[in-house]
Amino acid sequence: MSKRVLIIGAGGVGSVVAHKCAQTTEFQDICIACRNEERAKKLAAQLPRPVQTASVDADDVPALVKLLKSFKPDVVINVALPYQDLHIMDACLEAGVNYVDTANYEPPETAHFEYSWQWAYQERFKEKGLTALLGSGFDPGVTNVYCAWAKKNHFDTIEQIDIIDANAGDNGQPFATNFNPEINIREVSAPGRYWENGEWITTKPLEIKRTYNFPTIGDKNIYLMYHEELESLTKNFAKYGIKRARFWMTFSDNYLNHLNVLKNVGMTRIDPVMYEGKEIIPLQFLKKLLPDPATLGPLTKGKTCIGCVIQGTKDGKPRTYYIYNLCDHQEAYREVQSQAISYTTGVPAMIGALLVATGVWKGAGVFNMEEFDPAPFMEKLTEYGLPWIEQFEDVVVP
Ligand code: NDP
Repeated sequence: MSKRVLIIGAGGVGSVVAHKCAQTTEFQDICIACRNEERAKKLAAQLPRPVQTASVDADDVPALVKLLKSFKPDVVINVALPYQDLHIMDACLEAGVNYVDTANYEPPETAHFEYSWQWAYQERFKEKGLTALLGSGFDPGVTNVYCAWAKKNHFDTIEQIDIIDANAGDNGQPFATNFNPEINIREVSAPGRYWENGEWITTKPLEIKRTYNFPTIGDKNIYLMYHEELESLTKNFAKYGIKRARFWMTFSDNYLNHLNVLKNVGMTRIDPVMYEGKEIIPLQFLKKLLPDPATLGPLTKGKTCIGCVIQGTKDGKPRTYYIYNLCDHQEAYREVQSQAISYTTGVPAMIGALLVATGVWKGAGVFNMEEFDPAPFMEKLTEYGLPWIEQFEDVVVP
């Protein structure tokens, strides 16, 4: 049966979501909405078939409810910013629409993200018989599904998960982030955190560093960070014996040098500063000066490699396993005019929404990705351009 989807956000990720939704015949009607409708219209003009556009401020819940009630989507894909998550969930509840996002809620005034705010919607989504699917990007998203797939097919117990995210792409810019600069810099500047033996260990930002030899892209420096999927995976995999869960990301020395200087001079601050009689937030001003990630597509060359190294047991014997995807920036650009970071986020957002809209992933309440059967999602990853590779031997744990 044909379905209707409303995409909120027409930035780097929104652009890939729109292309991918337009590629599937199961989404017969598509509407792209953001505050600046011109941006949505420009994106709509690139798509292979006609779609609707709308102007909406997602923080204005009554306006969003009005749009939802008039377009009547089966599912909303929230690829605006994490600040909008709760408002969009409120509007979905009022209009009776399923909800999918790619990043967990973050209050604008504190660089702190955790699932508690969105998990608190559990009873309300349950009562309305609606599904809220949280974190359907790559990480979080595919990484959670990889873990569920590993448990389903290859492990009886899972003791350790290391999620490792490498971007070996080069965009030729002195300093540019590959998704929304404000969200990216808030995330990278936050203290590191990992799960060990039943408790969270906090580190200074990027304090723990290792070198990892990635398939195809070779040796890269990786840094331990906190990432939201650690919170849901340690909760949902407690029953499988999880003892340690960590998240690692690559950064070039050039990126880190720029970030340190910007931090040292106060440009990454998120508290208001008076400037010539007007309040400004330094990080939001910096965002205005940095390249828009949506423009990096034609400039970026190289590959991303994101995956999970998992340790546990099968039939009483220890096992180590690595599952990952390699995505090429230029191939992504040729297909959907976006670089691989937006591609690896937008494809799973579309797949999550498709599985919810068609009832393949069914349930009333608020769910993280690892709570559903991973098989249909894994099948669609290959179909829509993110094939995965499994390795059982020579897996090196960081
Ligand atoms: P961009 O800044 O490129 O795009 C954000 C879009 O949201 C813009 O179109 C903006 O348009 C729109 N928007 C912002 N505020 C509002 C609002 N109040 N109402 C309606 N629309 C709004 O961001 P990205 O595309 O890079 O990132 C999108 C999301 O994807 C982020 O939440 C990010 O954290 C997440 N992400 C997740 C990843 C994962 O693997 N899970 C990886 C990378 C990103 P306008 O200003 O016109 O409204």
